[in-house]
Amino acid sequence: MNKSLVLLFFLMAALGFAQQGPYYQQFAKYKMDIDVDAAGFTYNGKQTITYTNNSPDELKVVYFHLYWNAFKPGSMMDQRVASQGKNGDSRLQRNGISTLSTIPKDQEGAQNIHWIKQNDKDLKFEIQETIMKVELNTPLQPNTSTTFTMEWDAVIPEQIRRAGRNNREGIDMTMTQWYPKIAEYDYDGWATFDYIGREFHAPFADFEVNIKIDKDYIIGAGGTLMNENEVRGYSRNAVVKADDQNKATWRWTAKNILDFAWAADRDYTVETFTVPDGPKIYYVYQKSEKTSHWETSKPYVTKFFQLMNTDLGRYIYPSYAFVQGGDGGMEYGMATMMLGEGRTLEGLVGLMVHEGGHSYNQQILATNESMRPWLDEGFTSYYDSKIMHQLFPPEQPVPNPFMSSLQSYRNFTKRGLEEPAVWLGDHHDHGTAYSFATYVKGELYLVQLGYIMGEETLSLVMKEFYNQWKLKHPTDRDFLHIAQKISGMDLKWFHHYWINTTKTIDYAVKHVEHGENTTTITLQNKGDVPMPVDFSVLTRDKKLVHYQIPLNMTRTWKSEDIYGSFKTLAYWPWTQKEYTFTIPYGKDEISAMGIDFSQRLADVDPEDNILEIK
Ligand SMILES: [Zn+2]
Repeated sequence: MNKSLVLLFFLMAALGFAQQGPYYQQFAKYKMDIDVDAAGFTYNGKQTITYTNNSPDELKVVYFHLYWNAFKPGSMMDQRVASQGKNGDSRLQRNGISTLSTIPKDQEGAQNIHWIKQNDKDLKFEIQETIMKVELNTPLQPNTSTTFTMEWDAVIPEQIRRAGRNNREGIDMTMTQWYPKIAEYDYDGWATFDYIGREFHAPFADFEVNIKIDKDYIIGAGGTLMNENEVRGYSRNAVVKADDQNKATWRWTAKNILDFAWAADRDYTVETFTVPDGPKIYYVYQKSEKTSHWETSKPYVTKFFQLMNTDLGRYIYPSYAFVQGGDGGMEYGMATMMLGEGRTLEGLVGLMVHEGGHSYNQQILATNESMRPWLDEGFTSYYDSKIMHQLFPPEQPVPNPFMSSLQSYRNFTKRGLEEPAVWLGDHHDHGTAYSFATYVKGELYLVQLGYIMGEETLSLVMKEFYNQWKLKHPTDRDFLHIAQKISGMDLKWFHHYWINTTKTIDYAVKHVEHGENTTTITLQNKGDVPMPVDFSVLTRDKKLVHYQIPLNMTRTWKSEDIYGSFKTLAYWPWTQKEYTFTIPYGKDEISAMGIDFSQRLADVDPEDNILEIK
C-alpha cells in the first residue's frame, strides 16, 4: 500500500467507510416473450432486462442463473446426489441411484443462450453449468441502469425436482427457475451458488411475461393475468384468441417479486376466493377425487393469511396462487408449486401453510437462502407450528405448539449427526443434518427467544423486523439488532451458541433441602449452552408461583411472559455451574416444582427438570 493509499484508507475509516455502508438493493425489470412448443417440451425466449445498480460499487461483470442446466447426467447436482448416497436427498434417488443420471438425452434440461447484449452491443459470456458470467462492455457505475437483451432456447427437463415435464401427478409443465435470472448482488457479493438442489436468491424485480402456448392450455402463475378474456380458465366471458399456429398469448405482470414461476396443463381448473383484508387466492389444479381436499382447505387458507397478517404483518401483493405442480412444495413470487394429490386435509393445509408462509419469510423478508437457510425455513416453520396448532387444535391440550419440533430436535441430538445451522445450505454432509439445522433449529431459535425475552416481546420483535425489512434482504444480524433493541437484552451469546455451534442446553434440579417453612434448591447447568432459568412451584392448594433466574449475559431480565407474574431472583453467571436459592414453602406445601413449566426450553434431557413431592 503506498502512502496516498494509506492516507485514503485512514480517511475512509474516519468517515466510516470501513464499516458496512448504508443499505442498498439492486433492482431488475424483465420483459419476456416466450414461445412454447408444447408437444416438443421446448420453448424459445427473448428478454429485455433493465438492471439498476444501487450499490456503491462499479460492476464489471454480472451473473445469471441457468438452473435447468443441472438436470442432466453428470451435472454437479447429479455428482452431489451420487456422492452423498444414502445421506443425501431421497427425493433425488430411486433405489439408491441418482435419478439425474437416468434422464434420457432428449429430456435433459437445457437453457441455451444464443446471445446477450448490453445496450445493443454483444457481450462475452462464459457458462459454468448453472452460472453464466457476463463481462460488461461498459462497466455499470453506482446508481445507474443498463439494459440487457438476450435470446435463448430451453428444453423442459424430466421432472426430478420442482421444474419439469409430465410429472407423476400428470401436470404437463411446471415452469420454475425456468428463465435466465440475474443473480443477486449485495453486501455479501454476487450470489453465485451453483444449483445442486437447494434454495434460491434473487434481486427484487418487475415482470412482464408474455407466454405463447397451444390455446388448449391453462396457466397458473404468481402474478396478475392481464388478459383473462383471451385465454382459457379464468373468465366465463373469455373468447380464446388464437393465432394462426393455434396458440394463445398469456400476458402476466408482477411487481417487486423475486421470481416469476408458472405451470401449464390442459386439465387445470381455476378457482378463486378472497381473504378479507387479504389477497385474492387462486387455486389452479386438476380437480378430481384425488384432489378433493382442495375444496375443503379454503377456509383454512383464509384463516392462515388472516393470522399471518395480524401475527407478523400484512401480505403485500394483490394475489397468491396455489398451483398443483406435481412435486413437493416450493415457494415463488406470489405462488407456490406443490403436490396436489392424496394426503389428509391437514396434510394439504400443512403444505399450503408452509409454502404460503414463505411469502412472508422468504419472499417479502427476502433473506439469502443459500447462506442462511435457517432464517427463511426456520422462521416459516415457527409460524407453521403456531398456526397449524390454531387451525387443527390437538385433542389433548399441550403446553405449547412447538412440542413435536422440540421432541424431534432432542431425538436428533442423540444421533450424533448434528451440524451447525450457520453452514451453507448446500454444504451439509447429511441431508437430515441440513433439515434439522435449517428447519428445526431455525424454528427453535424463535421458540428459545420467546422463552428468553417473553412472548409478547418476541411478537413485537417479529412485527418490527417485518416492518423494517419487508421487500428487502435482511440478514440474521439485522434481526438480532432489532431483537436486542426491543428486548433491551444482549442476545449475541445465544445467537452464537444456537446458530454457530451444535452445543446443547441441559439443566437439572440437583438437590433439594426442606426446612420448616422453606425449601432450598440447587440447580445445575449440565449442558454447554447457558440460558436463563424459569422455575415454578405448584403448591398443594393448586397455586402456581413462578420465578425467573436471569442469565447475567442478557444484562437484564424479561418483564413479561406467559406465566403472568413472576418473581425475579439473582443473576446466574454463565461461568457458574450450580445455583442455590430458597423459596418460602415447606415440603408439605409443595406438590411439584421445577424448571420451565412452559416446556419451551430446548433442554436435551428434561427428565431431571421437574420434581414431584410425594
Ligand atoms: Zn420451506
